[in-house]
Amino acid sequence: MTHELKILSKYFDAILSRKKTFEVRFDDRNYKENDKLLLREIDEINYDYTGREVCVGVSYVLRGDYCKVGYCIMGIQLSPMPVEYEADGYDDEGHLIYDKAYCPCCRQEYEVDYDNHDNYCRNCGQKLSWNVAYLPELLTEENNEN
Ligand SMILES: [Zn+2]
Repeated sequence: MTHELKILSKYFDAILSRKKTFEVRFDDRNYKENDKLLLREIDEINYDYTGREVCVGVSYVLRGDYCKVGYCIMGIQLSPMPVEYEADGYDDEGHLIYDKAYCPCCRQEYEVDYDNHDNYCRNCGQKLSWNVAYLPELLTEENNEN
């Protein structure tokens, strides 16, 4: 299960830089191990969404004991988010050529054929997945077979 939550910029940045590997939350959503948290950044002045998101997996949930009543502490790890591929041409056989990819968090642009396919975005630190199964064309072909 994925929980969508707001998060202040200072905490958002600490998660992207992999310093903050826990989340303390009001325990009202039945959080479980292996759940995912889609954390949507809000600014610290107007609490408006900035458009940046990070996805983390919940590796542990602590309740009771050392927690304030009604709250839980979650161990979290960055989950890879698929890069967004973009095509701008066709090869000789009419297949789309995906030559650009974008970080889903900060929109950093990558040249698919020339840039390293790093595990973490070089601009914002988001964990990235380069799996071509996310290519729209391949998804379509798979659907046609079924
Ligand atoms: Zn990024």
